Amino acid sequence: MMRRRTVAFLSCLMTIAIILIMLTAGCTSPTGQGGPEGDAKNRTTEGLPSERTVKVVATIFPLADIIKQIGGEAVEVTTLLAPGSSPHTYEPTVEQARAVSEADLMVFVGGGLDNWAVKLGTAGEKTVLLEIMTSLAKEEDSGAAFTDNPHIWVDPVLVKERIAPLLCGALKSLYPDGAASFEENLKSFQQELDTLHKELSELTAAFSQKRFISFHSAWHYFARRYGLQEVASVEEFPGKEPSAKWLEELVKLADLHNIRVILAEPQLGNRAAEVIADEIGGKVLLLDPLGGEGVPGRESYVELIRYNAEIFRQALQ
Ligand SMILES: [Zn+2]
Repeated sequence: MMRRRTVAFLSCLMTIAIILIMLTAGCTSPTGQGGPEGDAKNRTTEGLPSERTVKVVATIFPLADIIKQIGGEAVEVTTLLAPGSSPHTYEPTVEQARAVSEADLMVFVGGGLDNWAVKLGTAGEKTVLLEIMTSLAKEEDSGAAFTDNPHIWVDPVLVKERIAPLLCGALKSLYPDGAASFEENLKSFQQELDTLHKELSELTAAFSQKRFISFHSAWHYFARRYGLQEVASVEEFPGKEPSAKWLEELVKLADLHNIRVILAEPQLGNRAAEVIADEIGGKVLLLDPLGGEGVPGRESYVELIRYNAEIFRQALQ
C-alpha cells in the first residue's frame, strides 16, 4: 500500500516536471528565434513539431507577408512576382513553375490580376490552389463588399476581417497540428491591423482634398474605406497605354477637381503621369501596391500600407 502510494506520488511529480518543461519551452521559443528572413520573429511556433514545414507560394508580396505573419516558422513562403514587376503583365519562369509544383499551397488573387498562376498551379499534382477573389465571393452573402476590381489587399480592414482568416483556414487544413499557433498569430496580426486602421482613419480624415488621379485602378478599396475618391486612372484598365485623347481628358479632370498630384507607381512606366503633371503644373508621387523584400520601408504588409498612406497624405493634405 505504502509502496504503491510512493510510486503514484513520484509519477505525479514527474508529470508536473514534464508539464513545467513544456511550458517553459513554449514560452521561450517565440522570442529566441527569428525566421530565416527575420520578419516572422514575433509569431509563435508553440506546440508545433519542428520537422513539419508547410510550403506556400504566393503570387504577390503582400499575400506572402500575410501568410508569413500567420504561419510563423511553420511555413516557408515564396513570392513569385519580383519587386518592380507588375502582376498584370508578368510571365513566370521555369524555376518558378518547379517551385509551385513542389508547394503544398499556392495563393493568388485571381479576378484577372494574376491569373497566369492558374496554369502554374495546376502543374503540381499535390498543390492546393487558393484563389482569394473566388473564395471570398463564395463566402459573400450580400455581394456588396467586392467589385470586379481585384486589388483587395490594399484595404487593411478587408485583410483583417476576410483575407487573413481565409489564409489562416487554409494553413490549418493543411497542417491541423499548427491550428492553435496559427489562430494565435492571426489574433495578434489582427490587433496590428486594428492599430493601423485607426491610424489611417485619423490621418485620412484630416485630408483637405479627397479626390485623386491614380495610374491604374489599384486603390479602389483603400479609397472606399477611407472616404477618398478616385476621379480617374491614367490607364483606363491595367496594362492599357493611355491615348492622347484620354490624356487630354485627364488634364481637364485634374483642373476641374483641383488635383495637383498624379499618383503613379514604381511597377509601371510613368511617362504619361509626368506628361499630365507637366500640363497641370503639378507633380508625380509614387504609390506602391506591392512592396517586397529588399524594398526599404515596404518590407511587410503593414509597412507597405503605411507607406502608401503617407504618399496619399503628401498628395491630399
Ligand atoms: Zn494592379
